[in-house]
Amino acid sequence: MIRIKLLIFTLFSLIIAISCSRKKSDILTFKERQWLEDNPHVTIAISSVFPPFQYLDDEGKPVGISIDILKLLEEKLNHNFDKIVFDNWKNILQAGYNKEVDIILEIQETPERRKYFFFTEPFISIPHVIFMRDDAPDHVKIEDLENLKVGVVDHYAIQEHLKVMYPELSLVPVKDDLECLQQLSAKKIDAVITQQGYGVQIIHNKLIPNVKIVGDAKYDNKLGFAVRNDQPMLARIISKGLAQITPQEQSQIYNHYIQINSRPFWQKAIFWIVIGIVVLILGLSLLFMWIWNKALRRNVAKQTKELQEAKDKAEESNKLKSSFLANMSHEIRTPLNAIQGFSELLTAKDLNPEKTELFANIIKTNCHDLTHLIDEILDLSKIESGQINLIKQKFDLVQLIHEIIEVQSKNIPENKEVKLLFVNQLNESEFYMTADPIRLKQIFNNLIENAIKFTANGSIKIYANYNSSRELIFCVEDTGIGIETSSLNFIFDRFRKVEIDKTVLYRGSGLGLNICKKLLNIMDGQIWVKSIYGEGSSFYFTLPIH
Ligand code: ADP
Repeated sequence: MIRIKLLIFTLFSLIIAISCSRKKSDILTFKERQWLEDNPHVTIAISSVFPPFQYLDDEGKPVGISIDILKLLEEKLNHNFDKIVFDNWKNILQAGYNKEVDIILEIQETPERRKYFFFTEPFISIPHVIFMRDDAPDHVKIEDLENLKVGVVDHYAIQEHLKVMYPELSLVPVKDDLECLQQLSAKKIDAVITQQGYGVQIIHNKLIPNVKIVGDAKYDNKLGFAVRNDQPMLARIISKGLAQITPQEQSQIYNHYIQINSRPFWQKAIFWIVIGIVVLILGLSLLFMWIWNKALRRNVAKQTKELQEAKDKAEESNKLKSSFLANMSHEIRTPLNAIQGFSELLTAKDLNPEKTELFANIIKTNCHDLTHLIDEILDLSKIESGQINLIKQKFDLVQLIHEIIEVQSKNIPENKEVKLLFVNQLNESEFYMTADPIRLKQIFNNLIENAIKFTANGSIKIYANYNSSRELIFCVEDTGIGIETSSLNFIFDRFRKVEIDKTVLYRGSGLGLNICKKLLNIMDGQIWVKSIYGEGSSFYFTLPIH
């Protein structure tokens, strides 16, 4: 019996405890709860385009700060509302005005709207600011915007606020915040007044250039719920539910979204801009280094080539000097030996007068050769050290050539059948010229002596004429041994001789043509040769007319 009594008591206290706890957890009165049960399909308008407050996630589900507040409210009320998603604020408002929805989530109270809705306490506050282009001053007040076109989102509470508080402003209603800021950037309007957070987010996400915040609009959107004004019971229920949300719960929701919205650094435009600039700088540096490296290499190659050429030249010059010395010693020894030998022979007692004359002549010729060689060496060193001075005078050119021919004819060895001729193609009026006659004679003598040396029989002709550039042009033409084409380009270099026939010895220093070239250079003339090997050579030179 006692047991049965105990059981009944336990059951009774359990029932009381359960009913008490239920009563304690339900924040609504019986009537309010009853109303909700009678109206299970209360509709609430939410927006898909107000991040971070109300928007759709990747799967198309409504998310955001206000949505989480709504969820918390539903939890507190132990009741779910029917959500209708809108993508346009104007439509939300219109649906509210037309009683097509029962509740609007997140709306600012205004005198106009009070005609249609009951408003709960706000659960969020959003500051408004003035946006202008980069060229605007840094600090602008709303009063400064008179006479400018100021963009506001059509039907936002700020529009109503500005109309009442600043009637002198010319407001331009625009569809939404994005379009407002795009029109500002494109200079279609001069300023935009809208919510700070959302505006800044649009600027960053959509990369709207040349727009900045210039001032405070001194207006905060205090957003709460709006309930159609023919449903006071519903308004009371919502307010009751909202009052249950603690400040800690609110800030927890807010912090969660602020964290989510501070995207990782690689998703921020500024990160990619910095990366782009770094890559660009790196690319440009690499390009610069590559070009520099290439130029450097080209330079090194050029210098190496120049050095190689200089080295080759030095080696060539060294070789030439050695061969010159060997050649010179031969050229000097030959006449010296002759002079020495025939001088000794001259002292013999049984020498008849013919032999004496012959020996004396040989000594004379060799003395002449030696003097000529020494003269050439001295001349060259004078020219090369720039010590040569031209003595210009007017003289009869034709007469000068005749004199040269007369002297040189005597130098033709008796065993050669060679004729020396002058082919004069000048008019008598052109016989006189101004130049250095001694140096001109030296050039002729060199060329004629060579012609005599390298011609066994035939003729040596000297031509004088004018060329097309009205310069005097001379030619010494022989029917001698000629010069191989491969040798033509070096015979004017000093110490250079053509080694043709090893069986025939042509004496010479290899200096004569080089002296001619250098003398003509000083006299502003030129020298060149045409030759057919085995048939003869023609040496041409020009002199400017003075
Ligand atoms: P060289 O004193 O040896 O004659 P040059 O400088 O006057 O020196 O001449 C250089 C070389 O050019 C000669 O050794 C010879 O090989 C060639 N040469 C010059 N003139 C003639 C010519 N008229 N016919 C053939 N070869 C010539």
